[in-house]
Amino acid sequence: MQKVYLDNAATTHMHEEVIQEMVNAMRFNFGNPSSSHFFGRESKGYIEKARKTIAQYTGVTSAEIIFTSGGTEANNLILRSSVEYLGVERIITTRIEHSCVAETVNSLNKNQNIQVDYVNLNDKGEIDLEDLQQLLKASDKKTIVSIMHANNEIGNLNPIEKIGDLAHAHDAYYHSDMVQTLGHYAINLENLPVDFASSSAHKFHGPKGTGFAYIKKSTGLKAQITGGGQERNMRSGTENVHGILGLGKAFEMANENLEKDMDYIFALKEYAIQELQSAFPDIHFNGMCATENSLYTLLSLSLPFKDGLIGFELDLRGIACSQGSACQSGAAKSSRVLNEILSEDMIASTTPLRISFSTHNKKEDIDYLLSVLKEISARHSATA
Ligand code: PLP
Repeated sequence: MQKVYLDNAATTHMHEEVIQEMVNAMRFNFGNPSSSHFFGRESKGYIEKARKTIAQYTGVTSAEIIFTSGGTEANNLILRSSVEYLGVERIITTRIEHSCVAETVNSLNKNQNIQVDYVNLNDKGEIDLEDLQQLLKASDKKTIVSIMHANNEIGNLNPIEKIGDLAHAHDAYYHSDMVQTLGHYAINLENLPVDFASSSAHKFHGPKGTGFAYIKKSTGLKAQITGGGQERNMRSGTENVHGILGLGKAFEMANENLEKDMDYIFALKEYAIQELQSAFPDIHFNGMCATENSLYTLLSLSLPFKDGLIGFELDLRGIACSQGSACQSGAAKSSRVLNEILSEDMIASTTPLRISFSTHNKKEDIDYLLSVLKEISARHSATA
């Protein structure tokens, strides 16, 4: 059976070069990076090289990059630690953040009495900057604004410069979940009004279970995981040396090939939009997906018929994509993000699908998806 992977927002294939570097290091190096002997120093060297690579591409200092087990941990570290150590009493966020931010915010609200305010969004999921300004003005409580750079379900790219400037003008911190953009765009963190950011290697062809938090040096955040004082006392525990090595290599490759990859993937997305539109004239592209204010890697759509089993049917035909975030793939549960921005009528009468691309995809993958979707749609027309 033909197999097509169109779920790159959930995770990506690892690059062969990344695998090779990791395998070599796994085979020949096992030292604990905290040991002062040769074996340890070699491991430590891998970690510091990866840190330097990331710092160089993002325009920050090595000291501002803290390795974590991925995006979820980085976001937890930043939000929980800003409450514990920076005196944050209020979080301004959106209702369409990734669950690792949404659930952390809920937990801080419930268990630590942190005030949470949600910025208004329109039916395309765009942030109401006027409302953000009003919220910032409305309280003197120490505040952190936590608004993602790009949404992992609908692809919206948020205006992080404007958000960060507003936050700073009101003496608030700005944290941005950049898991879907770091490694996909040239991002100079030093030039952005962002105090904290998160990244995850498996979104840009690196290994799972590794990522980093960007923590601006002057902010004074402290560890959530305490112990031996690794990661400059910001995250204890023996480092995931081989994962970090793979993360560094994947980040380097992503940044070196950025323009070329972007052009290739963007053309695939354009092709998919065009073909889907001509096959299904009543199709709806969710959020800002069909505009330039969207990830070039992702297309979120609502097909003009209701099919609760579409994820299952596509899977049977060898097509991997999702209906919302990865956590919702295959599950009947509807998407929290789509529920937030789409009307009840739209949700009741359409079928959501998230297709996300990488350089591993070809136009033929989209053609195959289209042919299966047309079959499914024809069956619906026949029974309507
Ligand atoms: N934030 C966003 C926007 C994501 O898409 C993801 C992954 O799905 C995460 C955070 C979590 O990252 P990780 O899988 O590395 O924990």
